[in-house]
Order: sequence, then structure tokens, then C-alpha cells
Amino acid sequence: MDSPNNSTDTVEQPVSAASAKPSDFTKRHDPPREPAPVKLYEKRRAVHNKRIDGPFRRFKWFVMLVTLGIYYITPWIRWDRGPYAPDQAVLVDLANRRFYMFGIEIWPQEFYFVAGLLIMAGIGLFLVTSAVGRAWCGYACPQTVWTDLFQHIDRFVDGDRNARMRLDAAPWTWGKVLRRGFKWTIYLAIAFWTGGAWIMYFADAPTLTHDFWTGQAAPVAYATVAILTATTFVLGGFMREQVCIYMCPWPRIQTAMLDEKSLIVTYKDWRGEPRGSVKKAAKNPGEFGDCIDCTQCVQVCPTGIDIREGPQIGCITCALCIDACDKVMKDIGRPRGLIDYATLEDCKREAAGETPRPAWKTLLHPRTVIYFGIWAAIGLGMLFLLGTRSHTSISAAPDRNPPYMLMSDGALRNSYTVKLRNMESRPRKMEVVIDGLPGAKMWTGTMDYADAKRKLVIDVPPDETKALRVYVISPPDTKAQDFHFGVTSLDPQKETDQAEARFTAPGDSE
Ligand code: SF4
Ligand code: SF4
Repeated sequence: MDSPNNSTDTVEQPVSAASAKPSDFTKRHDPPREPAPVKLYEKRRAVHNKRIDGPFRRFKWFVMLVTLGIYYITPWIRWDRGPYAPDQAVLVDLANRRFYMFGIEIWPQEFYFVAGLLIMAGIGLFLVTSAVGRAWCGYACPQTVWTDLFQHIDRFVDGDRNARMRLDAAPWTWGKVLRRGFKWTIYLAIAFWTGGAWIMYFADAPTLTHDFWTGQAAPVAYATVAILTATTFVLGGFMREQVCIYMCPWPRIQTAMLDEKSLIVTYKDWRGEPRGSVKKAAKNPGEFGDCIDCTQCVQVCPTGIDIREGPQIGCITCALCIDACDKVMKDIGRPRGLIDYATLEDCKREAAGETPRPAWKTLLHPRTVIYFGIWAAIGLGMLFLLGTRSHTSISAAPDRNPPYMLMSDGALRNSYTVKLRNMESRPRKMEVVIDGLPGAKMWTGTMDYADAKRKLVIDVPPDETKALRVYVISPPDTKAQDFHFGVTSLDPQKETDQAEARFTAPGDSE
């Protein structure tokens, strides 16, 4: 078992180029450290983070279970939309160009809803960052969640930190090969399940599962699963914190968004320094700070950095170091919070002996309020649009060539392609009328001229756009003019819509 002062643990070096060797940390204040040599490439040192328990670790468990649960289970949730629409709760139906999310169905012309959701997600990230720093990175980012999952697999198969370090350093024996093979097989199974879950969002999940295993699914389904299996296996199983430190642009953007009012995980150096063991502190009262230099905070860190070096890009603010340090402080009878969530502003206050502000006050500053206002306004606007949108629409496009036909009795005929859209998952009757154009009548390509009227009732199938060839005939001497095609759904909703059209006649200059 690892003890707080286990000196063998300090052989593990931090992985980040942004962090320094643990042995340097103790000399941080006296004398100042030599600047580290600039290296263009630093070989990765494996991070063997130690098991820890505490409130933040438990919260991380909770977020992991919720996010993975949502990802893997959502495509299997059924949602009854009647006999004419798919019964999968969340479905991106590429073939029919629809996006279903529970009771909401988005059509291609309503893509602004999807754009609105993406903008809300972006502003939501800004909001979270300005309020609680990199909480997204620490708890909910897929890279963090899957890396955390794979690190638990490591612990399950190879043991905790010291056992893993020993195994890593050990020569390749059959035992090590078997253990590695077993572990990587579990990685691969998780990665495959992850890739497999993704494609379920794009087709009926039970049908696609059957087709997939019987070799009847589309080649793109197999290719997508293969690519996602490979990326999950490599990024979560092997690259891990390197994705956060070197590949992901988000930490760079976030660094620019953090200010002295943002909550970050901070080591309170005015309280912790100079570092010294419990024994030394007992022998020299008042000479040492609260940090006993046990490196527990470094050992539990999933990115392998030392938070005592100050805020750095490798810190995903998962707060596991807070759990570790709080446990140490409890064990040695000192107050918790040597490492804690705090704003830089509050750190200055606390260092000057003032009382820090309550947490809720740190969340309420102008930037978070502005981000929240924009985020909420977009959300409310979208909810309003969703609630008030019509599920019936009409559009009309005139034939350009010929623009009109002169009939034997002198009447004029124009032709149009009229599209009736029924966005309900049930068949509907719709009444199409000519609004304006006195004396005009219309008929469709499937009717006789003798049945031409100013109003037609058309059956529109569920969830479809019905295209009609419509002929409009107007009395002789009708002048060119604008008019409308109107549509009303013949159901209790009585939804209406209009499409502008132009009736073309000889001499029309438009
Ligand atoms: S320094 Fe602490 S908060 Fe930052 S990544 Fe490491 S354990 Fe998480
Ligand atoms: S900050 Fe806390 S956990 Fe980290 S070395 Fe100091 S006492 Fe140990």
C-alpha cells in the first residue's frame, strides 16, 4: 500500500513539458530554480495514477456513469411516433433527411435548430469555463471519460500505481504478455462497443445490430465502427493525457478565457510553503508550511502533473489532487483545502489573511452572467420557435419555359410545381386555394381539366413533401399579376401557409 511519505513513489516523473521534476519543487522558494532546458520533443513517461477516494472522485464516477450511460443506451430508447415514423427516440435519419429527438422532429429546412443547439453548446462551454474553469475537461469531455475508464481497467488488471510501475519496468515474460494481452482485449472490446454505439444513432438500432452481425449492413457502417474502434483504442488506451496536453485546441482557448475570477484548482502556496515533513515541522515549529511534500497530489493526477507548480495547461481540473491532499491533511490533523477550487482573486485575499468569498459569489460575475444571458436567450428563442412552428407548408415554383400557354378559347394557362409539406407523422388532407387572380381555376396532373376548381383537397402522406404539377387557367385578357397559393390542413389544427406566385401573361415584363 502506498503511504503518504513513500519516497519510492517520487521516481515517477510528471509527464507534462509544462511541469518540472518533483525534486525541483521543494527548492521552489529557496533558491530559485534554474530554467528548464527547452526541448522540442519529450518522450512520454507513463502516468500510473494512484487510486483515490473522496467527494470529487465520487462525483467523477457519477458523471462517468451518466455520460457513458447516455451514450451507450440512448439509441435503444424507443419513442412511439405512430405507424408512419421511426420509433427510435434519438435518430439521425440520413436517408430521409430527418433528425428525431424524442418528441421533436427536425426537417432539413429547419437546420437552424441544429445550428442553434451547436451555438448553445459552444456558449455553454464558455459559460462553464468562465464559472468553474475547465470543468468540462475534468469531468465530461469524452477523452477524459474514456481515459478514466481505461485507467480503471489498468487498475483492475494490473493493480494500483506501484504494482503497475513494477510491471512496466519488468522484462517481457509470458506472464506479462498474457496480462497485457488480456488488458488490451478489454480495451478493444470497449473501443468496439464505443464505435458500435455511434452508428446506432443513424439507423434503427435493433435492425442495424442484426444487419451488422449478419453482414448485411452498409459498408460505411463497418468502416465507421473500424475507425472509431481504432481511435478509441489508441486515444483512450495509449495516448491519454497527451491528447489533452498536446493535441486538443480547447485548453489553449480556455487558457485565454480564464481570468482572476474563474474557479481553478489551486495549490495555496502561502499556506503550504516551505515544505517539510511532519517530523521536521515538529522539530522546528513555525518554520514549515502545511505541505509535507508527500506527492500524493502528483500520484493521483491523471495527467501526471504537479499542481504545486501553479496553474498549467496539463491540469484538467478534475480535483483528484484535492481529494488526495484533503485526505493527507485529515490524517495529519491539519485543515483541509491546501489544494482547493479557488479564484486567483480569492487566493490573493486569502493570502492577505482575509476570508474567502462563498463559492456561489465566485460564480456570479459579469462574464458568467452575460454568457448565461446569451445562452438562455438562444434556448428560449428556440423553444418558442419549436412551440409555434407550423407543421404544414407550401411552396410554388412556376414553369419558365413556356411561361404561359394560350388556349383555343383565349384563356391563359400557367404551370407550377407546388410542394405540400406534411410534417406530422400521420396522413392529412390539405385544402389548396388560389388566393387572388379572379376567375382562375386549377387542376393537377392527375385530374381532368373538367374538375378544375379554385380549391382542391389533396391527401398528403405522413411525414412527406408531396410535389404536384398544378395548372392554373385564367379567363381571356387576364393581365400578368401576383397571387398566392394558400394551404390549410383539414384537421383540428387548421394550420395554414401561403406561397407567393406570379401569373404570367403576354407582355409581362417581369
Ligand atoms: S493537478 Fe489536480 S486537478 Fe489538475 S489534472 Fe491533476 S489531479 Fe486533476
Ligand atoms: S500538496 Fe498536499 S498532497 Fe500534495 S504534497 Fe503537499 S501535502 Fe502532499
